[in-house]
Amino acid sequence: MMQILRTVAELRTRVRGWKADGRQVGVVPTMGALHEGHLSLVRAAKRGCDRVIVTVFVNPAQFNNPEDLAKYPRTEAADAALLAEEGVDVLFAPGPDEVYPAGFASQVIVSGVSAPLEGERRPGHFEGVATVVTKLFGMTQADRAYFGQKDWQQLQVVKRLVADLNIPVEVVGCETIREPDGLAMSSRNVRLDPLSRAQAPALHRILQKAAQALRGGAEVAPVLAQAVAEVKQAGFSEVDYLELRTAAMLEPATSVAQPARLLAAATIGDVRLIDNIPV
Ligand code: AMP
Repeated sequence: MMQILRTVAELRTRVRGWKADGRQVGVVPTMGALHEGHLSLVRAAKRGCDRVIVTVFVNPAQFNNPEDLAKYPRTEAADAALLAEEGVDVLFAPGPDEVYPAGFASQVIVSGVSAPLEGERRPGHFEGVATVVTKLFGMTQADRAYFGQKDWQQLQVVKRLVADLNIPVEVVGCETIREPDGLAMSSRNVRLDPLSRAQAPALHRILQKAAQALRGGAEVAPVLAQAVAEVKQAGFSEVDYLELRTAAMLEPATSVAQPARLLAAATIGDVRLIDNIPV
């Protein structure tokens, strides 16, 4: 039976019992509004660990835009039903006051890999992510933590902070799960109007085409410029970035000689979508 816990104290009691029995604990941090992408992480955690905690917390600290926070979908009852069906042991769903009690004053800042792309467009976002993820690791004492490659930069930020702060957790990155038409699954997709939903898969299609051209030896700058133009033609109103970066450090990449990643953020309707693929 899955338990829904809302306080750190209850969570710690539960985890202490598991650890005393020598159980390996996995955690899947989420903001809820769960879809198949999240469930793929849950299944990986189930395969890799004896006990699985899924956290659902819409973290105010990582929203640079109050409207985005207000509009973020919240579907706890449906989430709980899905997680129970997957055989999750604990759904940890604390309120904001449990995570950020009065007097809270600390922040985890990861420089370097947090700076470009999302870091530049969403000031404070990765500080919010790094802080809450560090707290979730402390709260859950998990041995392994599962994150999606959908948020590639976030995955690199989390790997960096775990290494830098000697947190005894193994970070596992899982493949991006897509709709049949290629659109990366995202909790924000429910906010797409029908036309935008129909146009949105173009982002992935165009990234794939660009990756193929780059692998074929095409020059980077013209391929990226062409891809940006195509994304706009496809119905996106704004392309925040569409760039080739080194896979781990996310430094600008001028060739595909080293492991590289194409990453993009673009707005369609009033929804900002991100996606990335290996090159
Ligand atoms: P979120 O609820 O958006 O904060 O996402 C929680 C976790 O699920 C993060 O590690 C995301 O990278 C991951 N995730 C979100 N969408 C997908 C997807 N389409 N495929 C794989 N993982 C995903």
